[in-house]
Amino acid sequence: MTRESTLRFGAQTDEVTSLLRIVNMVRTGEAATRPEIGRVTGLGRGVVTQRVDQAIEMGFLADGEYGPSSGGRAPRTLRFRSEQGRIIVCALGALHIRVGIASLDGDIVEHAHRAWDIAHGPAQTIDTALEMLDELLARHEDVPVWGVAVGIPGPVDFETGRPVAPPIMPGWNGFDVRRRFEQRFDAPTWVDNDVNLLAFSERSHRHEEALDLIFCKVGSGIGAGLLSHGRIHRGANGAAGDIGHVRVRDSETVCRCGKIGCLEAEAGGWALVRDAEQAVSEGAGGALARLVESGEQITPEAISLAAVDGDALAISLIQRSARLVGESIAALVNMFNPAVIVIGGAVSAAGEVFLAEVRQRVYELSLPLATRDLSIVRSHGDEKEPLRGGAEMVREQLFETTFPRWFAEGRPLIRDVMPEAS
Ligand SMILES: [Zn+2]
Repeated sequence: MTRESTLRFGAQTDEVTSLLRIVNMVRTGEAATRPEIGRVTGLGRGVVTQRVDQAIEMGFLADGEYGPSSGGRAPRTLRFRSEQGRIIVCALGALHIRVGIASLDGDIVEHAHRAWDIAHGPAQTIDTALEMLDELLARHEDVPVWGVAVGIPGPVDFETGRPVAPPIMPGWNGFDVRRRFEQRFDAPTWVDNDVNLLAFSERSHRHEEALDLIFCKVGSGIGAGLLSHGRIHRGANGAAGDIGHVRVRDSETVCRCGKIGCLEAEAGGWALVRDAEQAVSEGAGGALARLVESGEQITPEAISLAAVDGDALAISLIQRSARLVGESIAALVNMFNPAVIVIGGAVSAAGEVFLAEVRQRVYELSLPLATRDLSIVRSHGDEKEPLRGGAEMVREQLFETTFPRWFAEGRPLIRDVMPEAS
């Protein structure tokens, strides 16, 4: 029996709907055996058997081990065949490229990193990322790519996959990032903001439904990703969460976006490096001055490390950044009422030196009701977080948002997932 004859879309909507539901139940762990599927769905034994057989024939499910017996014969568990496809993730930062390959479960099976200035422009940057991916893919057997995630350090129009006036990415405005990856991998591609990917990664660790969370990244720049009831809030144009360019009090500093007094022009990693260099040139001593004497560059990471080691200049820079970030977050807390704020990025690597100040400002400036159950924690993430987040974003798109449209094909095709793209 062919796939086409197994499933006739439209004609048998109930059948397709219950088949989809069963595959997703096994995929998410909601049910693992045929009797469990029957209990959860209320479908009869015969119907469940028929649907599961179809899902196995279509390649979505496979029989696994025998489960625990509840008296009678132990039922066989089912598993989702996460190895039948893979997800490609390309996470671009201001100064680096990270690429990875993930299974359909979201596990990163292979990854690579290199330093790279995104100001080289889209053509060269994407060529380099694709070369890195080719190297990774050459080490793996040929499994079809089901989806691609691309993260970029600027606002993105999620519908079209194009950056929108990104401040630190000359040449990228309006560039069709999605098309390059679709052409290369013949798979649906989604482009998102880099901090949104970090928020997705945080969600994948927490396994909580309806999570209201702000991920605030304080790296070279500053940005936030917003999860509202477990969903990324991108806003009308993809600019939601861009708190790095919200104005702070009494600042006349010119930002790299061209405006005056942005948060990141005072509190971002690049601003701290600028202020540290100036302090050293004016005679400040300590760890950062020794770094300059030995011919090395001051970086946001170096300032964080020096603060952790108790260097006075570094601590004052980090604490000032944290107070300003805390004030901006407090405004978000009053408006958005998150349950969790996760702080990540190179500047936050200063740990409690940074976090304690953020907490103090947020609790001082926010409404009591908004902070009653609020926790402010540091991202425990490693460098693979953007890759995990990209895989999570693609999984959401494939299995929750567009699953019904491509399901009958056995694997997602660009035209099924993104009708406007072809
Ligand atoms: Zn700005």
